[in-house]
Amino acid sequence: MSQNPYAWIEKNLATIHRASWYRTVTPIESKPGAVVQMEGETLINFASNDYLGLAGDPRPMQAAIAATKAYGTGATGSRLITGHRELHRQLEKAIAQLKQTEDAIVFSSGYLANLGAIATLVGKRDLILADRYNHSSLKNGAILSGATAIDYPHNQIEALKTLLEKHRESYRRCLILTDSVFSMDGDLCPLPQILDLGAEFSCMVLVDEAHGTGVLGPSGAGVVEHFGCTGEQLIQMGTLSKALGSLGGYVAGSAVLVDLLRNRAPSWIYTTGLSPADTAAALGAIAIIREEPQRRAKLWSNVNYLKQRLQEMGEGAPPGNKKNGGWSWSLLPSESPILCLEMSDALSVVKAGSALKATGILVGAVRPPTVPTSRIRVTVMATHEPAQCEHLVQGLQCHLKR
Ligand SMILES: *Cc1c(COP(=O)(O)O)cnc(C)c1O
Repeated sequence: MSQNPYAWIEKNLATIHRASWYRTVTPIESKPGAVVQMEGETLINFASNDYLGLAGDPRPMQAAIAATKAYGTGATGSRLITGHRELHRQLEKAIAQLKQTEDAIVFSSGYLANLGAIATLVGKRDLILADRYNHSSLKNGAILSGATAIDYPHNQIEALKTLLEKHRESYRRCLILTDSVFSMDGDLCPLPQILDLGAEFSCMVLVDEAHGTGVLGPSGAGVVEHFGCTGEQLIQMGTLSKALGSLGGYVAGSAVLVDLLRNRAPSWIYTTGLSPADTAAALGAIAIIREEPQRRAKLWSNVNYLKQRLQEMGEGAPPGNKKNGGWSWSLLPSESPILCLEMSDALSVVKAGSALKATGILVGAVRPPTVPTSRIRVTVMATHEPAQCEHLVQGLQCHLKR
């Protein structure tokens, strides 16, 4: 046994390269926004989660600076020891008000919120039923909980019902997990039907509003509000890092749920509280969401314009085959600012992403293992100007012929 025990790492990387799954990081050299600097180039940004343009808004930035001056850079400990500030409680109250829930609890990231909530809600004797396309944090939360986790095919309510009929009785508690907006597809979960099944089979429902909060619903409360389910008994989680432009996560729901999480969620108890700057920035962003509904209106007018243009471009052509020296794509169904152009393979998506970058457009090139099929992922912002949306359409027309 004189083998190098680390030799597998290079072999593993070589496999990743061969599959065109290799990833690297590229720094953004400017403030976040509809236009960013990257590698010395000015790019129109269709790749961020900053849907309302709040990550570079002066008001949350000022709030973060003021909080840093008042309370320092770090929370210095768990919320239960020295890491709790009045700002945290203000933020939790603001989230509960936005969501119209009894209470909310802020975690140091959305990922940690899912890990902690799921591990608290279910254990070894329990069942999790989860949409196959759910976010990584929901999947890993299920593993951490020790519950039996079964995936159902994406958004297929009948399949979920069949699984409940077959398995529900054999377990103590049951938790249904779903993204509200599917982050790599852009479609929505059928929340009212899921809540009906939850009621019928005595299941808890946890919905991940990471891409819904600030974006969907008349007041920006998310997909729960969009479907008119506000006030129903369910568990809502989300992030402060997308439309809110900060960092952190939350769970919103009943007062007893939040109380239990404070006592049981390991990823809340045994981690450092959110920094004063992040907390204050998120509070500032929620105030803007409440006071400036016109931002959401602008976002949706951009989304609807781009979706219509992409649909027109995509009409009639079959997916999956290369034509006219360009890359063939088809638009996936979307009801959100996430618009995905599905392509035949990972290499085409990487090349298409580079071709668009050369024309001054930044998009996401999303490949397995993140998603089952490769795609260009376009995310629309409230702060995109019509000319910038048109530039994207032109870029796709030139370089991604159908
Ligand atoms: C981004 C995201 C998360 C994680 O949130 P972070 O605050 O970035 O850790 C969880 N769920 C979904 C669906 C997401 O898109």
